[in-house]
Amino acid sequence: MATKKTTAAHEYSFFNSVERSFDKAAKFTKFDKGLLEQIKACNSVYQMRFPVNIRGQVQVIEAYRVQHSHHKLPCKGGIRYSTAVNQDEVMALAALMTYKCATVNVPFGGGKGGIKINPKDYTVEELERITRRYAAELVKKNFIGPGIDVPAPDYGSGEREMGWILDTYQAMRPGEIDSAGCITGKPIAQGGVRGRKEATGLGVFYGIREMLSNVEDMKKLGMTTGVEGKRVAVQGLGNVGYHAAHYFHANGAIVVGLSEMEGSIFNPKGLDVEAVMACRRETGSILNYKHATKTTKKASDVLECDCDILIPAALENVIDGSNAAKVKAKIIGEAANGPLTPEADEILLKKGAVVVPDMYLNAGGVTVSYFEWLKNLSHVRFGRMEKRFQEGAHANMLNTVESLTGKKVSAAERKLIAHGPDEVDLVYSGLEDSMIVSYNEIREMRLSNKKITDLRTASFANAINKIGDSYLQLGIFP
Ligand code: GLU
Repeated sequence: MATKKTTAAHEYSFFNSVERSFDKAAKFTKFDKGLLEQIKACNSVYQMRFPVNIRGQVQVIEAYRVQHSHHKLPCKGGIRYSTAVNQDEVMALAALMTYKCATVNVPFGGGKGGIKINPKDYTVEELERITRRYAAELVKKNFIGPGIDVPAPDYGSGEREMGWILDTYQAMRPGEIDSAGCITGKPIAQGGVRGRKEATGLGVFYGIREMLSNVEDMKKLGMTTGVEGKRVAVQGLGNVGYHAAHYFHANGAIVVGLSEMEGSIFNPKGLDVEAVMACRRETGSILNYKHATKTTKKASDVLECDCDILIPAALENVIDGSNAAKVKAKIIGEAANGPLTPEADEILLKKGAVVVPDMYLNAGGVTVSYFEWLKNLSHVRFGRMEKRFQEGAHANMLNTVESLTGKKVSAAERKLIAHGPDEVDLVYSGLEDSMIVSYNEIREMRLSNKKITDLRTASFANAINKIGDSYLQLGIFP
């Protein structure tokens, strides 16, 4: 993962950047000042400090949970484990979650959590203690629950941490029938859903693929349609970056650049994503990958490489006023949250590049989290009721067609056609549909007004309209 840049004096705090983008888009919505202020404000900020015994010494851990919007409940958003965590960052990320959920029509308010630690500094047992104590603090203050606030993985956390949080919640709230819905991104054995792990990266792929399929839009960019042959560079090979790179590679794109904390690697003929990952697992560094034509020790070099599509998939503020002009990609897909500053946005727009904003492009994670939450509340695996029935119905139809036409389909065709959906099939299909529908909503918003010149403003305007409408239904606002 690329090292995070500190915000330059002339740039804004992360939360201010989000507010700035909001204000730019709010002009294109129908709501008055009071309602816009309410949408923009962070509703609840819980800053906590708690002691944890680490190797015989007490360490005071700083942590947060922010609920940005209660216009729909529960609140939703991941928990970040990083030394860069601070209140401003968690507030910005929580706000982005509100707009993200609205963008992909997931009926949640935005939330985010953060624990200011470097997970690499702790043993698994210590991490478990920190995580369980954080979860206990959330339970004590009523900041977690299937109808209140539902955390998920984020930078530095994953399935394992979500499992600990669920177990802590269930220990403190025994007998709650829907308790599995207090957290998403859990291991399958604890009520997780198949497809959640790869969801954000797969969503990034579906989103960019949808954009690339539009003849008119590609013409404007001087590009051909389709994924095949497009040169893609990905910054950060964590859960999001790796899966995004994997799906681009698997679908015929040429992955020309990859980066991780230790540096960047390039090959204009294409890098084999799985082989690069295997190399990192075995040797500890992507720089040891034999088939790269060029390697550098700067993780940020990948951002400036010659490619068609750039996917920043690490942390916020990595492209700002100082390096945006050097970005060569025509499409920048924000797989991370907030990788571009408003200055970077302006520079890239002037260069004629298109930025596909985070609140849309990385919404695959929360979309599948929504499916997981639905699964937990319904207490049944997706596909369990209908899989066999559908297989029977498809087989009957095939048999009828065969007897009417006197022709037989091959065994492989029969398998494909008769197949009833498994959980993962339904999850992928729901995710794909969400990404396609939302892209077209944003695109239409952008085309609806000549003054909207970028997809971020269109996404914000689209999200603000939906959130504003739900506030109006509450009857508080005139
Ligand atoms: N942390 C992810 C995000 O930023 C997922 C949130 C969720 O699933 O609630 O979108």
